Amino acid sequence: MQIPLVDLKAQYLSIKEEIDNAIKEVIESSSFILGEKLEKFEREFAEFCGVRFAVGTSSGTTALHLALLGLGIGKNDEVITVPNTFIATAEAISHSGAGVRFVDINERSYTIDVEKIESAVNERTRAIIPVHLYGQPADMNPISEIAGKYNLKVIEDAAQAHNGEYKNRRVGSLGDEGCFSFFPGKNLGAYGDAGIVVTNDEDVAENIKLLRNHGRKEKNTHIIEGYNYRMDEIQAAILSVKLKYLNDWTNKRRNNAHLYNDFLSGSEIIIPEEMSYAKHVYHIYAIRTKNRNEIREKLKKNNISTGIHYPVPLHLQPSYKYLNYKRGDFPITENISEEIFSLPIYPELTEKQIKFISELIINP
Ligand SMILES: *Cc1c(COP(=O)(O)O)cnc(C)c1O
Repeated sequence: MQIPLVDLKAQYLSIKEEIDNAIKEVIESSSFILGEKLEKFEREFAEFCGVRFAVGTSSGTTALHLALLGLGIGKNDEVITVPNTFIATAEAISHSGAGVRFVDINERSYTIDVEKIESAVNERTRAIIPVHLYGQPADMNPISEIAGKYNLKVIEDAAQAHNGEYKNRRVGSLGDEGCFSFFPGKNLGAYGDAGIVVTNDEDVAENIKLLRNHGRKEKNTHIIEGYNYRMDEIQAAILSVKLKYLNDWTNKRRNNAHLYNDFLSGSEIIIPEEMSYAKHVYHIYAIRTKNRNEIREKLKKNNISTGIHYPVPLHLQPSYKYLNYKRGDFPITENISEEIFSLPIYPELTEKQIKFISELIINP
């Protein structure tokens, strides 16, 4: 039995005909960029999130970048986020020209520690980017309160959390803007790179539309300097097909997580905790143990792939040396990075496979 960390092929085969037709339709229409497929998907995804506007982008990274620029955030500003995230969150901040300020995570939720945000706010702070890490929404109410107090914007990094909920409200609708990635391995994945920004603010949505397409509304008038950050029609057509299945896939991921929770209970393994305010969508099922290397080695010998999200915290990455952080600055993130690893959790995984993996983990 070979079990990959993600199995994109299994999902494709389950909806092959619909996907193939959607791609063929785009090719036959020969409308590849900024056409009706993207407009359709933007409407559908905005509605899904419970917001008024959605603007498709070329990736989750460019969605975050445009979310910042769309609010006018850049040089001389500072933005708060966590060091335990994929590097794109921080890259987007630096690409906007703003400074990155990290705040450690909470040891139970693995998302931003709301108790530590306020002391990181200064006169340059303009925004907070909470990351709904592994698919668990951050504790948004306290974040919104702090944002209100200091007049900050809140941009959700929901790249791992499509369909997640905070107190029964969908992610993406909780802050000023929500950013999603449709990287193939995400809970809603395209067949290439794609992303989206969602918001209720019409002006911000218009800004982002300008920025993603060379600053223009009409062909030859460039109102501002922009970017080529568009989502293409083939990806939009694929995502429209796949969005219909997202609820079903989310339920399967959650069910798989609950099976792991049961099979691993009573062992020394620390399983993920679904916080009382959250509906966790388990993009990643991360467990924590002091015996990470031995267990991963054993799983590997049995053809089971695992991952680590993330082995090197951002403040200790060579690329962020210039921020002058040092080991010890974010102890929760650092401790977790040495003990955490991720098990296969994709929707098509079977109970038998989950049991097999769990037994290898708990039987020494
Ligand atoms: C994947 C991811 C991104 C970036 O998305 P891309 O589509 O790969 O550019 C940003 N933030 C987080 C937390 C992610 O997991």
